[in-house]
Amino acid sequence: MSETITCPSGLAGTIRGLKGKEGTLLADRAAAKSGATFEKILAACWLSTDDPGPYQVEEGKPLGWSKVLVADRFYTLLQIRALTFGDGYAFSVQCAAASCRERFEWELKLSELPVRALSEEALEAFTTGNRLETRLPHDGRKVWFRLLTGADEQRAAKSLKAGQDGLLQAALLARIVEIEGVAEKERRKFLDEMELADQVALLDRFDEADGGVETRIEVECPACLSVQEIDLPFERGFFLPRAKAA
Ligand SMILES: [Zn+2]
Repeated sequence: MSETITCPSGLAGTIRGLKGKEGTLLADRAAAKSGATFEKILAACWLSTDDPGPYQVEEGKPLGWSKVLVADRFYTLLQIRALTFGDGYAFSVQCAAASCRERFEWELKLSELPVRALSEEALEAFTTGNRLETRLPHDGRKVWFRLLTGADEQRAAKSLKAGQDGLLQAALLARIVEIEGVAEKERRKFLDEMELADQVALLDRFDEADGGVETRIEVECPACLSVQEIDLPFERGFFLPRAKAA
């Protein structure tokens, strides 16, 4: 069972579905905690590279997934999952309305999630030093940031686990290359004092540059009929779905 896919950056290649050995890997909680699981799945299920896109792949060598952009990594994982278990993805959601809190099942088709290709600008910046520019809307200062790779993501997860930074802070620090007029050692302090609106604007700009699969989805509670926006849950059930009762 294999399939040829083209990722948001233009990287194209052939993937296969998961095998029993990857099932064993997925059940390994220690590997999951260290972030090694997805790395191993990508390396095992990516059979060959047809078009390296923005990456440098040496003749006869496998693609180095730690250098691959998160948009491509996530897209590939999604395709591996769909190839293995089909396009339907069911998960449970709890209604966010305080008066309701109903728990319900939601199902969607993975192939129907919108995918944004990386912009020419982002690709150009990535291959020439990975430095993109933006401006803080309130502060007015310029900020340079990088597109996130697998290695950056792992580093951010580690600093988050070390408890040095909060979620938002870690997400920002993982990407910021330079802030105009702010020395690197002053960066944390600067972020602490930054307007929250500027932080959110920065994260939006990062998202826009990243491209990839849109994971904000709308669900409707069957009990109170309220429509709510949630992030696609990407947990254990994604790669190890429960067997459906016939
Ligand atoms: Zn509800």
